[in-house]
Amino acid sequence: MVRAKSLITLGLETMTVRSGPADLKTARVVVACGAGVRTEADFRLVEKLAEVLGAAIAGTRPAVDRGFITKEQMIGQTGVTVRPEVYIAVGISGSTQHRTGVARSAKVVAINSDPKAAILSVADRGIIGDLNEVIPQMIAAAKAGATAEQLVEMPTEGK
Ligand SMILES: Cc1cc2nc3c(=O)[nH]c(=O)nc-3n(C[C@H](O)[C@H](O)[C@H](O)COP(=O)(O)OP(=O)(O)OC[C@H]3O[C@@H](n4cnc5c(N)ncnc54)[C@H](O)[C@@H]3O)c2cc1C
Repeated sequence: MVRAKSLITLGLETMTVRSGPADLKTARVVVACGAGVRTEADFRLVEKLAEVLGAAIAGTRPAVDRGFITKEQMIGQTGVTVRPEVYIAVGISGSTQHRTGVARSAKVVAINSDPKAAILSVADRGIIGDLNEVIPQMIAAAKAGATAEQLVEMPTEGK
């Protein structure tokens, strides 16, 4: 289940900032969102994936700026360092500042629409495609019983 964690005020809008079901520091699986996660509907997909995998939600600085995650959930040089079994980077380009906080992850899966994104060169599994096409396939596989480790190997129809 996804919990409401805190409320922040963004200009005139008040949004609920949600964490994943697992604690970020100890999570076996982390699903992280970047600037490619643009809309509330995009973020709901990230939340759903975290929910079915029992993962924690994290992200990059743009995700903090958009109010999807808190500063405490930001991974990187000026954020948190994580070391999960599987780190799933959604719409993250892979800046040095972000990668610093991910380097100790056992496996990195990157979903990115840009085949030249830097994160793909350091990922164990790169899925080139739009997150709106790729994540529903991952959710369906996880609901059918696939573990996060199996998702690393999962064939997808992402472009
Ligand atoms: C001193 C300093 C410290 C910093 N510390 C940190 C830090 O600790 N942590 C941190 O995260 N940042 C930090 N930053 C910011 C960092 O430099 C980057 O700006 C930031 O990490 C970029 O975040 P991003 O990858 O989410 O965004 P972008 O670089 O904008 O990447 C977005 C990615 O999403 C992809 N995308 C777009 N749409 C889709 C889609 N529909 N489906 C799939 N993929 C899509 C794009 O191809 C792109 O690769 C720091 C910067 C400075 C100067």
